[in-house]
Amino acid sequence: MNEIAHNLAQVQHKILAATERCGRAPEEVTLLAVSKTKPVSALAEAIAAGQRAFGENYVQEGVDKIRYFAENGEEALEWHFIGPLQSNKSRLVAEHFDWCHTVDRLRIATRLSEQRPVERPPLNVLIQINISDEQSKSGIALSELETLASDVAALPGLVLRGLMAIPAPEPDYEHQLAVCQKMAAAFELLKNRYATVDTLSLGMTDDMDAAIAAGSTMVRIGTAIFGARDYSAR
Ligand SMILES: *Cc1c(COP(=O)(O)O)cnc(C)c1O
Repeated sequence: MNEIAHNLAQVQHKILAATERCGRAPEEVTLLAVSKTKPVSALAEAIAAGQRAFGENYVQEGVDKIRYFAENGEEALEWHFIGPLQSNKSRLVAEHFDWCHTVDRLRIATRLSEQRPVERPPLNVLIQINISDEQSKSGIALSELETLASDVAALPGLVLRGLMAIPAPEPDYEHQLAVCQKMAAAFELLKNRYATVDTLSLGMTDDMDAAIAAGSTMVRIGTAIFGARDYSAR
């Protein structure tokens, strides 16, 4: 087994253990492999080991990888855009990705909807919540969710699938869990309101257990699969 396949198996085992601890079914949690800055060779190893869903943060880098694997006959992959999205890059996301996790304003959502090619299924979107209320992070406050959700749900080129958050680092499990439970409560309310809502994108390498205990349905894991990132080439 190569290193990436080994790491993937270990992460899957951790997801299994975390779901068992809180009495959830392992199928309720999707593993999104966050492959930003990693070469296509690393993704190819993950694909060979059975991984299908990939998360990318930089639009052009993601599009290059999507094209590469499409040209190499890998059709069954699912591509998630998880980085901050600027208006001038929305078209590339709308045309190439399957999901966008970082919708945090109506202007971007409207552009994504208009730019989504009609021959493709609607773009799956998550509304990003700034759950730790950090000045520097993107995402809306929970108080703004009701309005943005109803606006996004009405856009024909998008399907509202749920919520995403990047909680600030917390000192311990109990604090992580408290933040994740706030997200889970908002997710439950949204799910009751919209039949299309089924996804809570929450949990990274360091807070995955708390996120799963709270009710996350999609964990975004980079470092534990692909190793530390090298940003020097960017
Ligand atoms: C980079 C990134 C991840 C993965 O983080 P790791 O700590 O490497 O697991 C998850 N979500 C988002 C939004 C990211 O930007």
